[in-house]
This record gives sequence, C-alpha cells and structure tokens, in this order.
Amino acid sequence: MSCLGIIMPFFKKKKKPEVQVQPVSISKIDEERTYTRSDPDGTEAPQPNPRSKTTSFRQSGESGVGSGGGSSGSSATAGGRHSPSQSPSLNGSSTPNLQSANSDSPHNTSSIQFFREWLEKAKEEFEEKWRNPQPCTATLDDFDRLKTLGTGSFGRVMLVQHKSTKEYYAMKILDKQKVVKLKQVEHTLNEKKILHAINFPFLVTLKYHFKDNSNLYMVLEYIPGGEMFSHLRKTGRFSEPHSRFYAAQIVLVFEYLHYLDLIYRDLKPENLLIDSQGYIKVTDFGFAKRVKGRTWTLCGTPEYLAPEIILSKGYNKAVDWWALGVLVFEMAAGYPPFFADQPIQIYEKIVSGKVRFPSHFSNDLKDLLRNLLQVDLTKRYGNLKNGVNDIKSHKWFSTTDWIAIFQKKDQAPLRPNVRHAGDSRYFEPVPDDEETFNISVDDPFGKYFEEF
Ligand code: ATP
Repeated sequence: MSCLGIIMPFFKKKKKPEVQVQPVSISKIDEERTYTRSDPDGTEAPQPNPRSKTTSFRQSGESGVGSGGGSSGSSATAGGRHSPSQSPSLNGSSTPNLQSANSDSPHNTSSIQFFREWLEKAKEEFEEKWRNPQPCTATLDDFDRLKTLGTGSFGRVMLVQHKSTKEYYAMKILDKQKVVKLKQVEHTLNEKKILHAINFPFLVTLKYHFKDNSNLYMVLEYIPGGEMFSHLRKTGRFSEPHSRFYAAQIVLVFEYLHYLDLIYRDLKPENLLIDSQGYIKVTDFGFAKRVKGRTWTLCGTPEYLAPEIILSKGYNKAVDWWALGVLVFEMAAGYPPFFADQPIQIYEKIVSGKVRFPSHFSNDLKDLLRNLLQVDLTKRYGNLKNGVNDIKSHKWFSTTDWIAIFQKKDQAPLRPNVRHAGDSRYFEPVPDDEETFNISVDDPFGKYFEEF
C-alpha cells in the first residue's frame, strides 16, 4: 500500500467530531532536517548536515478522550507517538514486577522502591500546584533584555536579567495574535499550566509568567550549555556511554511525567538543553498535555512521529517511548532511524516496522531499540505491564546507577565551558527584533488568554 494511502486520511480526517483537525503543510518541516550520505562504517550511514533543525509543527485544536484530565487536539509535526490506553506502568497503583529487576543490577528492588516513594510525593506536590495556578508574578519592566537565544513558531526566547536580583533567565515570548491564528491557544495554556506545576531535576523550571496586550511571557531558568542538537551535530555522534548518560535522564523524565499523566510529545535534540554540569534540561512544553486516556492530536516532528500517530489512531504516553528510541538512535548514530527528503517518505519508513542499524551499534543497543521502535504496541517497552522497569533493567542500561543519575552524582561526559551565569556562547547569534515589544494599545485577543 502506498504511504500516501495511509497518510492522507490521517490529515484529512477528524478523529472526533468535536475536534477540528486542519490539514497540515508537512513539507515545510522537512526542509530543516536534512542529512547527507557518507559511509563511515561501510554501511549505509548518512551524516547529518550540521545546520538542520526542525520546528515542531502543529494542527489546530486538541481532541482527546481521557478518564479525567484528558483532552487532545491536533497539532502536527515530528516527534510524536501514541499508544493505546494501558495499565499504568510504574505509574499509579500498579505494582512493579520485581522479578524483572535483577537484584545485582543497579535497577534493583531498592531502586524501584526509591523511585516509587519519590514519585508518590512528587505527585502530591504536582496536584496541589495543578489545582492552584498562580496569578502573574512579574512585569516586562522587571527585566533587561540581553539577547535572542532562539526563535519559535510564535515568538522568541531571550536571555534576560532581572533588574533587582541580577539573576539571568530565558524569557519565552509568545505573540498572542500568532498563537490565536495558528489555533494554538489550548497548547499554550497547557504549556504554562504544566510548567508551573512540574518540578524535576531534568526539566526547566518556570520562574515567572505574565502577559500584556500583545504577548505572553514565560520566564524560565536559563540553561547556558546550549542545545544537545548543536553538540551532536558538532561531534557527529555520541559514544554509547555518552548516549546512555542522556538517555537515562530522559527515561527518568518520562517516568516522572507519565506518573503525572503527562505526555511530552516533542522529544528531539533541539529541545534538550545542557546545563553547566553537563546534565540535560528538557525545554518546550508546547505539546505537553495531561491525558489519562487516549488523545488524537497530530503534533511533533516528522522523524520522531510514532506509527500510531501516522496511522491516525488514538494514542497514549507510549508515543514518548517510541520517541526515546528515535533519540537514542540519533545520538548514537548521528542521524535518525527514519529520514528522507519528503515527510511522506519518512512516514512510509516509520510504519514499515523496519529499522537499519549502523554496524557499530552494540547488540544490547540494537536489542533495546528494537523494543522501543516497536510498531506493535502490545510489545513496545514502556507500554508493557512492567512499564518503565523493562527499560531501566535492560542490559544496555546495566551500568546505569539510576539513583546516582537522578541525584546528578555521575560525572557528565561533556561539561560545557560556561564562564559566568549569563554566558551565551553556546547559542548561535539570532537577530533581535524590537518589533516584538511594540506593545499594542488594545488587547483584541485577551479573552483567549484569561487563564494564562
Ligand atoms: P518551536 O516552535 O520550534 O517548537 P518554541 O517557540 O516552542 O519553538 P522553544 O523550543 O521553547 O520555543 O525554545 C526555542 C529555543 O530557545 C530552544 O530551542 C533553545 O535554543 C532556546 N531556549 C528555550 N528555553 C531555554 C532555556 N530555558 N534556557 C536557554 N535557552 C532556551
């Protein structure tokens, strides 16, 4: 069957009557992630073009069915995956199958117990904040604007300094008009609400938020080491121990988020920042969503989309585990497992169930990836009855001390040379645009953002 036949219904069809799914221009996304072919290992091994980044794409609206907080929508681009609703893994009330964890391995019974207790407390803290969103906590005048760090679909992220505390922050500025026009109001409200309530060592922290007639502002802790994307493109690929160090942090991030019924949906090296110690901070919660059941929103980045999303099925948090497989592959190979010139060809490869590994991948890595890049949701790791424990106790992670990673006690393989708190050398220069701060005298879109 042609991929077109598979894909087109996905973009045309409404998943749920109440959801407005708009056709998405998929082609614009792929212009930014391109790869050239070379053959370092004697296998068909493409190398990335050093300046290829993806912008997440989205469709309008969110459609979802969930027992509880679930809503879903349709946003489209790379990086999404879905899975059928299943019993929560380590999450919630399910008891981890301790037999799956070798007591000699770092992921043993006491490690499982450690995380179970920690997550229970974390959930209480999250629920309290989720129920009690804070009102605006600062104004634009409280900050000196220093430099643009990155640009996104609706605005930009700037390095700023708080005038009185002298602390540096990354200020994400979203243009209300663009958010409304691109039908991303719900995603933007989700982003702020989730960022306000989460608290985890490998997730960026929201320090302040506020709005004016033109923009929405989220002031985040500033992460000076730049994007993993830049480091990966510069190095070509990471060694397996290096890849494992980052992968372990993402496993813990998803274990935490999924425990709170949050799906992230936009994993990719562009959204992973490196802190001054060399650990990861995940940024960009623009597609994150609280979902207890399934959701149908088309969102992400083409190379990272799970087959369930492409095939237009409802999906759940297992999409994040698929994306982890794509990320681990991309870190260790230097290019993603499914790529092509046109998105439609990428999707064809994703749904085919075939993955080709470079010859330098270890057997353990290949085994892990076969279980993460598993089209059959009843077999995908992370989505089975042992949940995240199938991943944490996999042989590829046999040297990973999960508690030491969580406590940031392991030595990072790459520590950025950050000379001072506001050092921005790891961010490529982006032109500033003072237009952003020509604040409108009226607020025609204010009604959409009362909750912000
Ligand atoms: P897109 O539309 O591509 O998804 P976006 O508008 O959602 O982008 P983000 O992905 O949140 O914006 O941020 C854009 C870029 O800004 C990041 O890739 C990163 O380079 C930079 N950035 C974001 N948050 C931080 C932070 N806390 N510290 C330092 N840099 C940051």
